[in-house]
Amino acid sequence: MKIVILKFGGTSVGSIERIKNVAKIINAYHKKRYKLIVVSSAMSGVTNDLISKSKQISDNFSSSEYDVLVSTGEQVACSLIAARLIHLGLKSRSWLSWQIPIMTTSLHKNAKINAIYKRKILNYLKKGGIPIVTGFQGVNENERVTTIGRGGSDASAIMLAKFFKAERCVIYTDVEGVYTTDPNKLKKAKKIKVISYEEMLEMASLGAKVMQPVSIQDARLNRIDIEVKSTFTKKSGTLITKRSNIINNKIITGISLTQNDSKISLIGVKDKPGVAASIFKPLSKNLVNVDMVVQNISANGKETDLTFTIKTEDLNKTKKIIQSNKNIKFRKLILKKNVSKISVIGVGMITTPGVTFRMFQTLANKKINIQVISTSEIKISVLIDKRDTKKALIALHKEFKLHNKR
Ligand code: ADP
Ligand code: ASP
Ligand code: MG
Repeated sequence: MKIVILKFGGTSVGSIERIKNVAKIINAYHKKRYKLIVVSSAMSGVTNDLISKSKQISDNFSSSEYDVLVSTGEQVACSLIAARLIHLGLKSRSWLSWQIPIMTTSLHKNAKINAIYKRKILNYLKKGGIPIVTGFQGVNENERVTTIGRGGSDASAIMLAKFFKAERCVIYTDVEGVYTTDPNKLKKAKKIKVISYEEMLEMASLGAKVMQPVSIQDARLNRIDIEVKSTFTKKSGTLITKRSNIINNKIITGISLTQNDSKISLIGVKDKPGVAASIFKPLSKNLVNVDMVVQNISANGKETDLTFTIKTEDLNKTKKIIQSNKNIKFRKLILKKNVSKISVIGVGMITTPGVTFRMFQTLANKKINIQVISTSEIKISVLIDKRDTKKALIALHKEFKLHNKR
């Protein structure tokens, strides 16, 4: 059986009119005799709204109840889509993840899909039905509802493609595909026709919200090609695929940004073995995600300065953890909100020397101060003042010729 997975994001199902439009798209595939499995996110804004309700109930809201609560948005969207298809005369029904079931690891809020039972859905497909499956949610071995992290419907779609050996996996969203940078932040951003898993993973992890990083990791491991395209136009989108399928003549493929980062510096930390571990262990225990880290060489051999970045939402928690940490001694703690990380990404930099220099020179020409640097084989990230982000983005996008047609 040749199966196609269609995933619709929040904006795509954001209103009744848009849901009717989604039903039309599904119907068009159906007329071409594809066997379809549709995955939907919640209508836009709904998940955020549910999260804000949970915060009003408690600042320590039970994580198992959080999953029950925030997964409800997908149920609403799926039912509306299925009912619209029924209205159009098609056979359709919604499937909540536990009804299939889509099994996940036990950890709430950030579970991972580890199995999908196929029997019921295959039977339904054989009878000519169009299943509309809730993205973002699953069920664990204790029969509790789980969710798989923000933006997780992308991962639901990829895992359905994996388990059902789908022929195609199409991610319908509110932009025409993956762009050189967020097209809502830079008008000159250009749509990328083909991008490798590795580059997409870096772009997503470094802030390009268009695809959720976990979903790209899953697609790469399982060699699933992903088509990203717009729900609102018929234009061709972006193909995410393996590197050997791509003839790439660009050094840099894209630029990603993160916002809402904060920088923490510990000045005059006693320099002895194990000190970094003593600082980061309690943070990791409390689920604070530490991103960039730099430790200065200590000038006198006794003291050093350590700087790292975290999400601003974790700032108060982090401050408390550090101040109550009896295992470390330091002279001063400096907290700085409003920094942002800008990253250039491209497999071309493996074979092309000088990218780092060009990036630093471009920022220097614009008098933008670099606070922290981190690199990998295919990306260079720098931390800068949030106020400089737009200026840096425009300058780097131009320097690496991303304005040009691709
Ligand atoms: P969906 O609800 O369909 O999952 P998301 O809001 O999660 O959609 O992702 C789409 C958004 O990602 C776009 O509206 C765009 O602003 C943002 N985005 C960030 N970086 C990029 C990029 N490089 N290419 C395309 N879109 C991007
Ligand atoms: N509705 C969920 C969220 O907003 C999942 C998704 O949109 O993919 O994070
Ligand atoms: Mg998304």
